Amino acid sequence: MSIRLHDSLTRELKTLGQREAGTPPVSAQHPFAFYNCGPTVYAPAHIGNFRTFVINDVIRRLLELEFGADQVKHVRNLTDVDDKTIRRAREENRPLAEVTAQWTAKFHADCTALNCLPPHEEPRATDPRFLREQVNMIEVLLEKGNAYRAADGSVYFKVSSFPGYGALSRVKERELQPGAAFTADADEKEDGSDFALWKAWKPDDGPNQWPGPNGAAAGRPGWHIECSAMSKALLGATIDLHTGGVDLLFPHHENEIAQSECCNGTTFARHWYHSEHLLVDGKKMSKSLGNLYTLDDLIAKGFSPMAVRYALLSGHPRKQLNFTLDSLHAAESALEKLRGFREKLCKWAGQSGAAPAGTTPSGRFALVGAALKEDLNTPAALGALFTAISSVHLPTPMEAALDRGAFANVLGALGFDLTLPVGDKVVTPVAITALAEKRWTAKQAKDFAAADALRKELTAAGWAMLDGKDGYKLEPLKK
Ligand code: AMP
Ligand code: ZN
Repeated sequence: MSIRLHDSLTRELKTLGQREAGTPPVSAQHPFAFYNCGPTVYAPAHIGNFRTFVINDVIRRLLELEFGADQVKHVRNLTDVDDKTIRRAREENRPLAEVTAQWTAKFHADCTALNCLPPHEEPRATDPRFLREQVNMIEVLLEKGNAYRAADGSVYFKVSSFPGYGALSRVKERELQPGAAFTADADEKEDGSDFALWKAWKPDDGPNQWPGPNGAAAGRPGWHIECSAMSKALLGATIDLHTGGVDLLFPHHENEIAQSECCNGTTFARHWYHSEHLLVDGKKMSKSLGNLYTLDDLIAKGFSPMAVRYALLSGHPRKQLNFTLDSLHAAESALEKLRGFREKLCKWAGQSGAAPAGTTPSGRFALVGAALKEDLNTPAALGALFTAISSVHLPTPMEAALDRGAFANVLGALGFDLTLPVGDKVVTPVAITALAEKRWTAKQAKDFAAADALRKELTAAGWAMLDGKDGYKLEPLKK
């Protein structure tokens, strides 16, 4: 069964890896080319960003299962120069490269804790090799008449030169009218919808400047050109899959298509996939709103990175997910059940070791993989995983060994490593929370008899419920 994923351009489910006639199929020589827009490195990434990166990690794992590990090439960039990175370096009076190296290292450490596979290539915008690629691409666009130099020495892409502009985002006509002010530097542009390919140096940029394209001032690349140039340099002019969070659809990805297709004269990406945002109280988690949690914030609260990964995968990737600490409690108990199941399987399998080669693998977990391969339905996959687990009753050692192999495979696809450290948070079982909720509701309704009976049930189960004015706390009773 092949992998089907929503394509943002056609708005349909499409099979991954299907290439046009005359193009070599996915193979070790022509690996599946997967580009995922990476982070801007000036602060710790928040778990909203990690929702996107964890989802992309599951895509990477599925691609490897589908095509073979050596037939997939995954590139994810690091944006290490833009207004935000430069502002941070200026505020801290430190060199830009030092600031971005610090936050790149932190990003890598968090990715490792969340069990995300490192991309095969991780190009940086200011790497001299990739600066050259960006400048070359801008020069081609200037020569072809798709770009122009502004009075201050910046270079802009001329949106009206690309008739296909807007196909991905279906951006409304009126938003592309001349004079629409998209950014603060609109004065320099011929048209409001044009966007910067190269930004001429300004005093705020401090020491951060590089030689520009032919005839342009020294300065720095615009953000969009980075992905077009790096994906071309590392994956070729046409890639199989391009992904990112939904906020990147417009203008970032629309602009990438315009630059790449005008420069290369061919399709930029065969497939576009955008995952939805992580919300807090109904608003996008973001640095600018200040409503964010970092991985460290959650570890400090006693949760394990694996529970964070689980919680981030608990909602459908194409639907917004509201983040709550309760979802992390639920994730810790779910992981605990998975660990318990793994132990039981090992016990049941006894000395039987790995199932002999040629034995039919256990089909018990087939629905987990099937859900992932049908538009990355992670909540359905998790549901199927628990259904499969509860269907195992006293298997023979051979059956247990087969189940153990299949179980390890689906955990691998989801990226759950049950051997990684667990959090020190006391996990409240879902059934206990449900009892406590019922008791709280009864108490609010002044049904004290029911509330007392429920408290007794909680005590018998080993939990104390401490009532406050506006809520309650659950604590395990000391043994
Ligand atoms: P940035 O570092 O801001 O460029 O973002 C890195 C990635 O995180 C991009 O793919 C964004 O689309 C994604 N992203 C940003 N905020 C959120 C959020 N609240 N939920 C999910 N993904 C996000
Ligand atoms: Zn990008």
